[in-house]
Amino acid sequence: MSAMPSNPILKLPNLPDDAVDLSSIYASFQRLQAPASHGVGNAFHGVGDAFPEAGELAGLFFGDPGSGNHAENALLRTAAEQEFADTGYSPYSFLRDQPITYSGRETFDVQAIRRDFPILHQKVNGKDLIWFDNAATTQKPAQVIDAIRRYYESDNSNIHRASHTLAARATDGYEGAREKVRRFINAPSADEVIFVRGTTEGINLVAQTYGRKLIRPGDEIIISTLDHHANIVPWQQLAKERGAALRVIPVNDRGEVILEAYESLLSPRTKMVSFAQVNNTFGTVSPAKIMVEMAKRYGARVLIDGAQSVPHAPVDVQELDVDFFAFSGHKIYAPNGIGVVYGKKELLELIPPWQGGGNMIKDVTFEETIFNVPPHKFEAGTPNVADAIGLGAALDYVSRTGIHNIERYERYLTEYARQALEQVDGIRLIGNPRDRVSVVSFVVPGIPAPEVGALLDKEGIALRAGHHCAQPALRRMGVEATVRPSFSFYNTTTEIDRLVEAVRKIAING
Ligand code: PLP
Repeated sequence: MSAMPSNPILKLPNLPDDAVDLSSIYASFQRLQAPASHGVGNAFHGVGDAFPEAGELAGLFFGDPGSGNHAENALLRTAAEQEFADTGYSPYSFLRDQPITYSGRETFDVQAIRRDFPILHQKVNGKDLIWFDNAATTQKPAQVIDAIRRYYESDNSNIHRASHTLAARATDGYEGAREKVRRFINAPSADEVIFVRGTTEGINLVAQTYGRKLIRPGDEIIISTLDHHANIVPWQQLAKERGAALRVIPVNDRGEVILEAYESLLSPRTKMVSFAQVNNTFGTVSPAKIMVEMAKRYGARVLIDGAQSVPHAPVDVQELDVDFFAFSGHKIYAPNGIGVVYGKKELLELIPPWQGGGNMIKDVTFEETIFNVPPHKFEAGTPNVADAIGLGAALDYVSRTGIHNIERYERYLTEYARQALEQVDGIRLIGNPRDRVSVVSFVVPGIPAPEVGALLDKEGIALRAGHHCAQPALRRMGVEATVRPSFSFYNTTTEIDRLVEAVRKIAING
């Protein structure tokens, strides 16, 4: 049989490459398929031509995120991990940055994807740049950069208010981008998609409109310990202003929300539940659909902070039945300064506008203003046309690559990195959620996180080291700061190997 792809870090010691009988390992994995209600066995079919059995095996391990059943996938992964442990071989050693064919149809080729991102091809401090700061912001493919350049070179105009050709083109581009967002998150109508600067502005918009109108003294707002400051501060400010109380869902030692505790916080006083679908410090995927259902039983409205979920997994706002959903373009390969807040139509019609000015009106006299309909009612002033078009191009890019393919690959990278870092002496991983994506957090005891970040920068590795704008989440784990590599579908296991080697040196040398 063909030699296994070698991985000096992850290969467990007791089986040499050529002694592994993949077919027997595979047979043992058939058992794992049986209890799965979804098509786990179809997930990965081959890793290039060289290692088809490895691809199948890895498919069993990584599950089929297309089923959307993260909890089940996580359980299955745990079971699969045990099976792998019994074989003495690591599941993460099978795939090595080669093209992957999913279900014999779509091919995911990380090297081809990397060619679309010009910024990745440079040296930093004499080393090939490794961009592991994706949870902070993502890099932009040439397709997005070109869309923005084309807009400024040929279509630039203010929109909606002029009768000339360029205004019509710019308006079409902007409204076309709104429709692309609608499709991407499966909103019922493009009128429910409001362009804002990003997640932060989206959450503030909801707090300042829905919250100011409908939250009363004595009401309660529930957020989570895992939340980014962007989902803490706006609700804290609103609660103080309105005489409402802020309640916080606790998390366990793994860094997962405790659903029983959440249940006990809910009551008829709960008017709003707002939480991050994916946490930005440990990569925790929270059971959003279940949490929305629980809130609805008490008549509460729900906002989901999708800043870290939209780039990594399919989102369907109708399936979630969520009232508001916010995300940032720059975290999903689009430019800075553009983001989205989705809101259910009946709520957007009910709540007042946020800012006043042009575009958000139907008629103005000195006595009174008649407001425009949603979404224009919430988009006062000249909007960010170019970057909305850039966001549309980014969503096209992600859709062409396939969000399911992206999720599978990024979960694989995340597990690969976690397992490799777990084997580095002298570091401590922080948080260990069972359902996770994209993020790993660790500390090197005795060396402040920013110092570790600076040492890694010398190796050309860019990542975040600090509190990640989530101080309560980190403090729950007993730390003030962590080193946080975060992965995108343009990253590779070779890059992770370089990170692990660099961290190993730092941990040894201090
Ligand atoms: N929510 C989460 C979970 C985040 O990770 C971030 C940014 O890191 C935000 C909100 C804020 O996003 P932005 O700064 O783009 O508004």
